[in-house]
Amino acid sequence: MEVFSCIVSKACELGELKDLRAFDGGPAISHLLYADDALILGEWSRGNIENTARLLRVFYICSGLKIKLKKSSLFGIGDVGEEVAIMARTLGCRVGEFPFDYLGIKVGAKTNKSCHWDSVIDTIKRRLASWKANSLSMGGRLTLIKSVLASLPVYYLSLYKAPNKATDQMEKLMRNFLWAGSSEDKKLSWVAWDTVTKSKENGGLGVSRLKDVNFAILAKWAWRFQIQKDSVWRKVVEMVHGGRGRWDFLPLNCRFNGCWNSIVKVLARRSFKGKSSKDIWYWGEEVNDVFSVAAVKLLIQDEVEISREQLMRWESWIPIKINIFIWRAEMDRIPTKATLIRRRIDIQDGSCYLCDFGDEDVMHLFIGCGFSFGVWSAVGRWCNIMPLMAFEFKDVLGYHEQVSGGKWAKKVVRGVVMITCWATWKARNDKVFRGSNPRVVDVVAWIKSWSFLWLKGRSKFSDIVWNEGVLNPMYML
Ligand SMILES: [Zn+2]
Repeated sequence: MEVFSCIVSKACELGELKDLRAFDGGPAISHLLYADDALILGEWSRGNIENTARLLRVFYICSGLKIKLKKSSLFGIGDVGEEVAIMARTLGCRVGEFPFDYLGIKVGAKTNKSCHWDSVIDTIKRRLASWKANSLSMGGRLTLIKSVLASLPVYYLSLYKAPNKATDQMEKLMRNFLWAGSSEDKKLSWVAWDTVTKSKENGGLGVSRLKDVNFAILAKWAWRFQIQKDSVWRKVVEMVHGGRGRWDFLPLNCRFNGCWNSIVKVLARRSFKGKSSKDIWYWGEEVNDVFSVAAVKLLIQDEVEISREQLMRWESWIPIKINIFIWRAEMDRIPTKATLIRRRIDIQDGSCYLCDFGDEDVMHLFIGCGFSFGVWSAVGRWCNIMPLMAFEFKDVLGYHEQVSGGKWAKKVVRGVVMITCWATWKARNDKVFRGSNPRVVDVVAWIKSWSFLWLKGRSKFSDIVWNEGVLNPMYML
């Protein structure tokens, strides 16, 4: 391709090929190459197009690489009318129509219309359909949303401002997948999407809002514009939009629509903390702050997020599904009989499955229930701490404060508390859905073995031994 590039440049130099020459001393562009994709740009004239065809033949004779005209397309921009079809016939190539796909991006599409985002939405749907979602836990689904689904549209979002309708549709797919495990099934959403999309520190699950991701990566263009002074794209933007701008540092000529127009408009809606020094444009307050999309996302978060009061802290050595369970329990958003009745689901008898005494809600299940009292007593003895004295679920979440010792003693007990709640819930579900009759000793045995397994596999204490751990989970400290 380098040879091809030389030939085209030489032809332009000799005047055999008329490239796109900008007025006002802007850049002259004759061709763009990427891998084995070539885009040749030039003045619209019969002579110029014929010379381009000759040039391709010369290249074929010199290199032996034949460019298949049948697979190439000719595009006419501006007032060229029927001529495109006539010229395409002469050359033996196809007539190109806008919008078209180039390197996976739709060129010439009105991306402010949501229908042009259908292909992105379909990609998400296809990916969802390929997963065996039913066999995934909620933790697994959350991980997939964050690591795969949310990144699928990023390529598009990095160039185009997505209309709200499109981001809403994409987030709806994610929301349904999180709660129901598929894009179609309707299931109860137990926690509002606004809460799910808060950061973990602010009481959410840390799923990014696509609108914010969109803004953050579009903002990068402003930064690039300031530092990539010699790049072709910047020169083109300056040529088209140069002169006066909405901002003194990003030019915009409102007569021209297109992605630069929407980028500048989107960025202008928010205030910026950029800082310009003599030669370089810095991001943030500090001189050595280099631009990062994550930093912009944080900035947006600070602006718009109202943090939710939350006592629960995410515990790294505990599986995500259990962390999520505790996160939901603190908000009273797990399907106990009480919450189901509140959601108008027909349940005749609201009493606790485990003790048949008292209404089944979060308070009862994890604090007031005779069954869980037995479990907590055993867990307290095992961890060598005072018995749990709780009046609300927050007291359960603060139980680890009782333990004396360093950071890890508290982390271990905090995890054990989470596992205890999870095990109690499992005992309850086993009784409801499998008809089994769990005993306190069984649940305590689960708690001990899971704690041991996860401490060994997910924390720094990989060399702990069962014989000791079963007597005291903090023996290694
Ligand atoms: Zn009970």
